[in-house]
Amino acid sequence: MHNIVDKITEVNTRIEKAALIANRNSQDITLLAVSKRQPDQHLLEAYSAGLRHFGENYVQEAIAKIERLHLKQAIWHFIGPIQSNKTKVIAEHFHWVHSVDRLKIAQRLNDQRNPARGPLNICLQINIDNEANKAGINIEHASELALQMTTLHNLRLRGLMTIPQNSVTPAQSCDAFNRMQTLFQQLKTHQPLAHMDTLSMGMSTDMEPAISQGSTIVRVGTALFGPRSGP
Ligand SMILES: *Cc1c(COP(=O)(O)O)cnc(C)c1O
Repeated sequence: MHNIVDKITEVNTRIEKAALIANRNSQDITLLAVSKRQPDQHLLEAYSAGLRHFGENYVQEAIAKIERLHLKQAIWHFIGPIQSNKTKVIAEHFHWVHSVDRLKIAQRLNDQRNPARGPLNICLQINIDNEANKAGINIEHASELALQMTTLHNLRLRGLMTIPQNSVTPAQSCDAFNRMQTLFQQLKTHQPLAHMDTLSMGMSTDMEPAISQGSTIVRVGTALFGPRSGP
């Protein structure tokens, strides 16, 4: 049987090794368990083993899970594509959204967030390799959108997220993550963005190069839970 507790230990060991090599503190790297298309049992096991951050891509599936599992201390991150007719449920149920790439979506999340729940944490998704058909804003438009977002008081811009090009060499992913780190530092020179503290980058196969370039959240699915079900 697939043992999630062992997988968590393996992934934490990878994070610690990569942090050590990068001369970083592994405490500064959050493991976000990507639980999309995984059965409830997998989330329950991960939660019992102490994981608290869960990432979901599909709104309907995510809301059903959040309500059904009712994990008191879980912190839910939305990491999938956002349609404007889904912003309300996202603003109501999640603590973080990593995939904002347009002002219109940010404005809707801001207007639909209940201020009593505190600001929704946001990462801007960057299309770091300028891929056609890939979500995310290009580097050259990032600072304008980031600055516009600072006027939306029910949102808290925490940083940047990216999914680099598929099936590249570790050196190529390292280069993409390095461009993310450079962009992040450039944005932080604007005073209203100086508080940003999050680089969401690195998945099952590329968490080491991401950590070497300053990732603070790694989003890991397969390496924790095994293959996903369904289409
Ligand atoms: C599915 C997904 C992940 C996890 O990918 P794995 O390769 O299974 O670790 C991370 N980030 C995003 C945005 C995803 O959609």
